[in-house]
Amino acid sequence: MKYIGAHVSAFGGVENAPQNAHLIGATAFALFTKNQRQWFSSPLTASSIEKFKAYCTEYGYTAKQILPHDSYLINLGSPDGEVLEKSRNSLLDEVHRCEQLGLDRLNFHPGSHLKKISEEKCLDTIATSINWILERSEGVTAVLENTAGQGSNLGYKFEQLRYIIDRIDDKSRVGVCIDTQHAFASGYDLVTEEGFENTWKHFDEVIGFNYLKGMHINDSLKAKASRVDRHASIGEGLIGTKCFERIVKSPWFEEIPLILETPNESLWASEIACLNSYQN
Ligand SMILES: [Zn+2]
Ligand SMILES: [Zn+2]
Repeated sequence: MKYIGAHVSAFGGVENAPQNAHLIGATAFALFTKNQRQWFSSPLTASSIEKFKAYCTEYGYTAKQILPHDSYLINLGSPDGEVLEKSRNSLLDEVHRCEQLGLDRLNFHPGSHLKKISEEKCLDTIATSINWILERSEGVTAVLENTAGQGSNLGYKFEQLRYIIDRIDDKSRVGVCIDTQHAFASGYDLVTEEGFENTWKHFDEVIGFNYLKGMHINDSLKAKASRVDRHASIGEGLIGTKCFERIVKSPWFEEIPLILETPNESLWASEIACLNSYQN
């Protein structure tokens, strides 16, 4: 059984996310637990938390079907001391929000060196940031997302994600989320059958499927190895539908949230129905 959904709106309160997911026939969803364009937001209210949990129970969403995403300003590998401190505190606050909501994982982009420090120094800083956050929280797994490698964003190679994992003290609380658009744009073949097999074999060798805590299911507007982060609706990009059919039919992606971040929200219900039609 694959859990398939989309990154739905939590506008008006986190409790609206499970309802929005249910309305499009999703069995998984992603959400922001606060305003994604601010460093800090007011705390979740007791009523919001209670309603979120009640709706999740009503619509059948358990923690493993939900992949919260962090806000955009956070850079855990920042070369700027002040930004780094703000980033760590902001992500810790988000981890605490997940704890309050009964969620067990939080997805975030590793970090960017902004051409001011080396890739290695940036990766080391990211690992230190994650250790700092994990020491101050419990029950939530830090889920590193692979990137397209646009600008100075790190995490565009499986080896870079592995490098960070190697430096995390509590390996039971670190995981990865692979975004198909980012993987393709960073140079991994997902189009041909052989390319698909080789990419995931390589993933298993370098990182291991035991670390896979979620997927972002996006087609790509940009070419393989273009290193440009630009999502397309399923079947309307350069990856093509076959890759997504393979994912849904593969035993490697069971029991984790598979999340659409495709640009046309009005297509989500039909994209989910299409992906569900591939279930074994
Ligand atoms: Zn993504
Ligand atoms: Zn993206």
